[in-house]
Amino acid sequence: MVSLDDALAHVLERCEALPPVTVPAAAAPGLVLADDVVAAEAIPPFANTAMDGYAVRAADVAGAPVTLPVVAEVAAGHPADRALGPGEAMRIFTGAPIPDGADAVVMVERTERLDDGRAVRVGVAVDPGTHLRAAGEDLKPGERVLSAGDEVTPARVGVLASLGVAEVRAHPRPRVGVLSTGDELVVGPAPLQPGQIRDSNRPTLLALVAEAGFTPVDLGHIVDDEDAIRATIERGVATCDAVMSSGGVSMGDIDLVRVVLDRIGDMRWMQVDIRPARPLAFGLVSAPDGRRVPVFGLPGNPVSSMVSFVLFARAGLRRMAGHPPERVHVPRFRAVAAEPLTRRPDGKIHFVRVQVTAAGGDDGGLAVRSSGGQGSHQLGAMARADGLVVLPDGDGAAAGDPVDLLLLGEPLSAESP
Ligand code: AMP
Ligand code: MG
Repeated sequence: MVSLDDALAHVLERCEALPPVTVPAAAAPGLVLADDVVAAEAIPPFANTAMDGYAVRAADVAGAPVTLPVVAEVAAGHPADRALGPGEAMRIFTGAPIPDGADAVVMVERTERLDDGRAVRVGVAVDPGTHLRAAGEDLKPGERVLSAGDEVTPARVGVLASLGVAEVRAHPRPRVGVLSTGDELVVGPAPLQPGQIRDSNRPTLLALVAEAGFTPVDLGHIVDDEDAIRATIERGVATCDAVMSSGGVSMGDIDLVRVVLDRIGDMRWMQVDIRPARPLAFGLVSAPDGRRVPVFGLPGNPVSSMVSFVLFARAGLRRMAGHPPERVHVPRFRAVAAEPLTRRPDGKIHFVRVQVTAAGGDDGGLAVRSSGGQGSHQLGAMARADGLVVLPDGDGAAAGDPVDLLLLGEPLSAESP
C-alpha cells in the first residue's frame, strides 16, 4: 500500500513542465506563463478623468457656487489643444486627458450649463485630484505585472493587451492520448451481447481532459491483447505529451496495461490507500524522439477512473502545463455534512460523492449530502455529484460535522450574486 501523498509525490516528481513556446497573447488564455511580464508603459498612460463634468482648478471653485467660462471641450481620444487658464473651465468626458493647468474635475451632476454651454455654474468646491485618474496609477513602467507560473486568465489577457504585449512565452497545453481497454467493452449504441457493457470511461476521460484545459486525443478502444495495447500506447507516446488508459491495472491475469507498461516503460504499480481508485500504474515511456512521456494507467471502474484522474492525472498534467506545484491540486474547501456520511474503518481515505449547496444560516459556507450509491461502478451518483468529501479513516462524519470537500464543478448557490 502507498499513501495518497506518496503516490502523488511520485507522479508529480516525474511530470515536468513542457518546454515553453511563443504564442500570440490573444491565444494565451488558459496557458501558463514561462516568463514574468514587466510593464514597459504606464497604465493609465496619461492623467484622465473618471467622470463626465468640467475640468477646473480646485482653487477657482473653492468659493462655490461660482460661474466660469467654458473654453473648450475634451473628449476621450481628443486632448485639449491648450492649457486651462486661471478662472476657466473645460467640458470633459470620461477617459479624456486632463488638460494642463487643471487639477480636478467637477462631475456634471454638480453643475449647471449656462449661456448655451459657453459658461458653467459650479455648485460645489472640490479638492485637488477629485475624479482624476493619475498616470501610472494602475501599473507603473518597470513593475512586474505577471509572473512565470501564472495562468493567463481573461483579466490577465486584458492586462497584456493594455500594455501592448503582443506575444508571450508560455507552456503549451499538454496533448493527452486516451485509450480504453477491455474485451467486454462495446463502442456505440449496438445491442449488448451477453457479458458486454458500453465503454463509458473513454468519453468521460476525454471530456475531463478537455475540461481541465488540455487537448484530448482519442486513441480508441483496445481489446485485451498485449500487442494491441502496446502498439496503441506506443502510438500515443509518439504523438502526445501524455497517455492515459483505463482498465487493466488491477491484480488479475488479464491486467495487460500493467504488463505492457512494465515491459516498455519505467513503471510503478501502486495500490493507493484510498477508496475508490486504489490501483494506479504510472510510468514514463521513451518516445522515438527521446521525450520521456508520462503514462497513467487508471483503473477500469468508472468512478475510480474519474477519481484517479482528478487526484493524480490532472495534477501531473497541470505540472506539465507549467502550473507551480502548489497550484496543481483540486481546490479543497471546508463544508458541513448536512446528513451523516458513514463509513467503516479500513485504513483508507474515502472520497464520497456529494451534492453541494449553500449552507444558509449566519455563517454561510457549503453543505454536503451524499449524491447516491457509492460503489466504484455507480456512475449515477458521480454524475449527480458536485464534489468529493474527503473522509479520513474512521467511522465517517455525523450531521453537522465539518468535512473537507474537493469541488468538482461549481456548487449550487442558494443566492443570486
Ligand atoms: P479492469 O480494471 O479492466 O478489470 O476493469 C474494472 C471494471 O471496470 C470492470 O467491471 C470493467 O468492466 C469496468 N470497465 C473497464 N473499462 C471500462 C470502460 N471503458 N467503461 C466502463 N467500464 C469499464
Ligand atoms: Mg479490463
